[in-house]
Amino acid sequence: MMNIDNLIIGCGISGATIARLLADKGEKVLVIDKKNHIAGNIYDYRDDNGIFIHKYGSHIFHTNNEKVWEFLSRFTSFNTYMHKVIALIDGIETTIPFNINTIYDVFPTTLARRLEEKLLTNFKYNTKVTILEFQKQDDEDLKFLSDYIYEKVFLHYTTKQWGKNPDEIDSTVTARVPVYISKDNRYFQDKYQGIPLNGYTKMVENILAHPNIEIILNTDYKDFASKNQELIKNSQIFYTGSIDEFFGYKYGELPYRSVKFKFETYDREFYQSNAVVNYPCNYDFTRIHEYKYYLNDKSSKTVIAKEYSENFENGKNERYYPIVDEKNTKLYKKYLSESTKNVHFLGRLGDYKYYNMDKAVERAINLFEEITNGKS
Ligand code: UDP
Repeated sequence: MMNIDNLIIGCGISGATIARLLADKGEKVLVIDKKNHIAGNIYDYRDDNGIFIHKYGSHIFHTNNEKVWEFLSRFTSFNTYMHKVIALIDGIETTIPFNINTIYDVFPTTLARRLEEKLLTNFKYNTKVTILEFQKQDDEDLKFLSDYIYEKVFLHYTTKQWGKNPDEIDSTVTARVPVYISKDNRYFQDKYQGIPLNGYTKMVENILAHPNIEIILNTDYKDFASKNQELIKNSQIFYTGSIDEFFGYKYGELPYRSVKFKFETYDREFYQSNAVVNYPCNYDFTRIHEYKYYLNDKSSKTVIAKEYSENFENGKNERYYPIVDEKNTKLYKKYLSESTKNVHFLGRLGDYKYYNMDKAVERAINLFEEITNGKS
């Protein structure tokens, strides 16, 4: 093993980003990961049908951050895919986030017209209103509309996804999918959007392809640390795993939601009309992903995944979503306060934050800049 200055635990998008920034600066970096592959939960692979599968669920890159876009664009090109989500509401395929087009899809035209007019008198065009805000209506028609959206879009989906109703979870979670006073059917409005042309795994492979970076897979941090105590003592540590695990769960476990994917292959060109179809009101799964849409893969077959939510259980499944609330944030902070100068936590699990990919990269860039500035 080369002499190293930095040990990075986890080679998902956060770990890979910080690894590359340090390596570019001339520092030696070792990245370890307990999984048998790089790229963490953005891992994808081309299957036997030539379809890129996102093993841990659909990932659609989107950002307004120029720095993040520039950084990732060093390692991949992106296509111009702009994500849309279809939801099946009352048996009708319509658009999520709920917008003016949705109103016309699900209501008779005379009612839709009235609701549109009321909406435009009460809200500025092209604004986003969270469902919890939208519920605070006096007008009878708008109250009817907000009750409808709450019930048909959020209530059952959120109960499936989080095991709690929308009022019981952190308001920032449902705020990700606002009511949109617009006719824009896209899921995201960011300036830059797309899927890496050769997949996410290849992008991460390229980020990590640097003579100063060494990678060791199938390696658990605790085992590694016990066998390499000198190295741990003498290097800067960047931990992208869950902080409670780092501290041996001594104050208890930080809870997460997990998801399970049931993959199915069909001997036909397409299964559904869109990459993601949400089922807010029916079935036990939350949504169905059809992967060939992302990179326009050509095949006479198609692969879908039905997504089921469940609690994270150590050893049984993977961590996907931190359950951010007051109690868990307090526990997170308690662990963080024990961290020493040479250990940095980052990423969805290390920061216990519901980051999108671009925010994970941004966080790694910011941490790198803080450290570099602090040193000089
Ligand atoms: N959500 C919902 N109905 C939908 C889509 C989303 O209730 O049809 C809520 C749900 O609580 C979900 C949250 O909005 O967890 C965020 O959704 P998003 O699509 O951003 O989740 P992700 O793709 O990150 O799993």
